[in-house]
Amino acid sequence: KVAVFGVQKYDIKSLNDSNGEDSDVKFSFFDALLDQKTAILARGHDAVCIFVNDICDAGVIEQLAGLQVRFIALRCAGYNNVDLEAAAKFGIKVARVPAYSPEAVAEFTVGMIMTVVRKYHKAYNRVREGNFLLDGLLGFNISGKTVGLIGTGRIGLLTGKILAKGFNAKVVAYDPYPSNLAEEYGISYVDTLDELLVQSDIISLHCPLNTSTTYIINDDTIAKTKKGVVLINTSRGGLIDSYALIRGLKSGHISAVGLDVYERESSYFFADSSAKVITDDTFARLLTFYNVFMTGHQAFLTKEALENIGETTIKNLRDLEST
Ligand code: NAD
Repeated sequence: KVAVFGVQKYDIKSLNDSNGEDSDVKFSFFDALLDQKTAILARGHDAVCIFVNDICDAGVIEQLAGLQVRFIALRCAGYNNVDLEAAAKFGIKVARVPAYSPEAVAEFTVGMIMTVVRKYHKAYNRVREGNFLLDGLLGFNISGKTVGLIGTGRIGLLTGKILAKGFNAKVVAYDPYPSNLAEEYGISYVDTLDELLVQSDIISLHCPLNTSTTYIINDDTIAKTKKGVVLINTSRGGLIDSYALIRGLKSGHISAVGLDVYERESSYFFADSSAKVITDDTFARLLTFYNVFMTGHQAFLTKEALENIGETTIKNLRDLEST
């Protein structure tokens, strides 16, 4: 019996489609994020199934252990929201879906780069008003520009490949664990993050969020980037210090930003489904910049990715039970 938290319609559909009616896996769907207050809903279930914004810290894990929950099945790749040490301490097994569709996120990232560089979002709003003037819409070619990737795992590599092979960009990357596929994909490594910051016209984040990467983009690192740099984050919000980002935008040092993820996005989801206004100060301030394009953690959302998430989650739950 599995308590599924933070569900939206697509979750219910993809999990049910992959499960089949006569399956031994039984779901209860809860329209709430997992946290200290909602953990009690897991009573009577063997597993909880969670996504990127559910909170699964040591306190929640202790509660789950007290409710005899034995498994945590993440239906996502990142696991920064789960305290793995606490899970191990209480003997709760954790599984995730590591590579459900790097293509989904890589293609979305490239689209986001094009959107902010060529100002699609601004142009769309103008054309809707019948305004065909082009002032303020000047972009630049990606071809020949230097794109810097922070992290070259599954998503970073593919993003780099599309940009190098498809756009003829010069793609450089920083990763403490370089990939041997990079050369074939047209990506060359720099030895330090600083080198990447200095060289890149566009910087895209593709590393996980952990203690060593939190605020990897901050006042100091922004100061090292080229004037007019473009920043893209489809990875995790906590990689960027939002106040530093706003300062960089205000000074004009950063020319454009694309964001799919936010530092405090857990509080944006379901906090109060009747409240349509997000009160987070940085979110509201970012919305005021025309050169910031924002989406709501959507990069993963393709038909193919959902099928894979559903199938792998069911398989993970069965494997957890049998090991
Ligand atoms: P991955 O584990 O395959 O790759 C991560 C890479 O980052 C690894 O190569 C690792 O060595 C590197 N890395 C670790 N620390 C680093 C550092 N300090 N500097 C530079 N590189 C570092 O992960 P992935 O599947 O490519 O996913 C990347 C990120 O994208 C994850 O954070 C994940 O949470 C996020 N993601 C977002 C969405 C979305 O919908 N927006 C969807 C899926 C994944």
